Amino acid sequence: MRDFSYVRAATIDEALSAAAMPATMLLAGGTTLIDLAKCGVAEPERVVDISHLKGLDVVRIDGEGATIGALARMSRVAEDPAIKGEFPAISEALWQAASAQIRNMATIGGNVLQRTRCAYFRDPATFPNCNKRNPGSGCAALTGVNRSHAVLGGSNACIATYPGDLAVALTAFDALVHLGDRQVPVDDFFLLPGATPDKEHAMRPGEIITAISIPASPAARRSTFLKVRDRQSYEFAAASAAVGIELGGDGQTITDIRIALGGIATKPWRARAVEDALRGTAFEHDAIKEASRLAVEGAIDHGANHYKIELAPRVVERAILKIGAAA
Ligand code: FAD
Ligand code: SF4
Repeated sequence: MRDFSYVRAATIDEALSAAAMPATMLLAGGTTLIDLAKCGVAEPERVVDISHLKGLDVVRIDGEGATIGALARMSRVAEDPAIKGEFPAISEALWQAASAQIRNMATIGGNVLQRTRCAYFRDPATFPNCNKRNPGSGCAALTGVNRSHAVLGGSNACIATYPGDLAVALTAFDALVHLGDRQVPVDDFFLLPGATPDKEHAMRPGEIITAISIPASPAARRSTFLKVRDRQSYEFAAASAAVGIELGGDGQTITDIRIALGGIATKPWRARAVEDALRGTAFEHDAIKEASRLAVEGAIDHGANHYKIELAPRVVERAILKIGAAA
């Protein structure tokens, strides 16, 4: 870990001008940044601490939806009674992430911006070949150990999975990422790797995430987050699904459905083909099972990660049935 200078931003404007300077990184909860600095992936010259900025940790909920400040802690948002009531999938995604200690420290903005857990990416001393870390150097995972890697959204340059849980639920419910005055739909915020896997999101130099907003909807109110992983706690998703459903007045017809997947793609993955197949149909197990297979349309495996193509549709199916049972 190399030496860096530490600055504590007193205002948002101060943070913005610091963020525009080269080789500068922002520090929120620090649970990702410090890890990456220790393993030599992040090598900032200046670290700007934004964790004490006033006004960026507020959670506001009204009839229109929720606005969550970028510095709100994961545990505080997960526990918020209004988030639990209006956006259960958001609360559940946060509860199932990381550990209690990390959730108490980590922020919503930092969570969204966490980096891949690809072991090659996180070990520059042993593996120089990583296009995400070192553009043009190759991808060690394509022919290496890739059990946890993506089957959707990958390219010849990178197949690293986006690891976070919260962003999956945000994608299902059409959240917006607030970058000061500019807002970007979360689905457009995350970029596919293509030929430039080092470019992961739509933030411009000098921008910071100030808040995330989520529109209210009946589907968000009746929602869940199902995460399947190698062990039941302190583990990233092998496959996950955020699902929300609105049923019509007959209690049988699916009038709206939102589905996004995690753990299987290079970015949080909206499963629009499944949504389109089920919207307007009766809530019926066989149809749900068949439609859930569309979640992995176009998937490409690299051997060890083939199981995700089998697993993901089952996670979608189970999540939909879970909501139906609750209804
Ligand atoms: P920081 O480390 O402070 O920042 C992360 C990055 O975001 C940095 O690059 C920083 O410069 C940038 N940044 C932070 N805030 C802003 C902002 N407002 N605007 C612009 N840039 C900003 N996550 C899951 O979702 N699911 C899991 O199962 C999970 N398991 C984990 C297990 C372990 C062992 C660890 C260490 C982490 C795990 N995580 C998991 C990731 C964890 O949730 C993140 O480390 C955490 O949310 C990051 O938040 P932070 O505030 O600490 O970010
Ligand atoms: Fe690097 Fe992506 Fe390949 Fe992992 S999958 S080694 S992050 S280029």
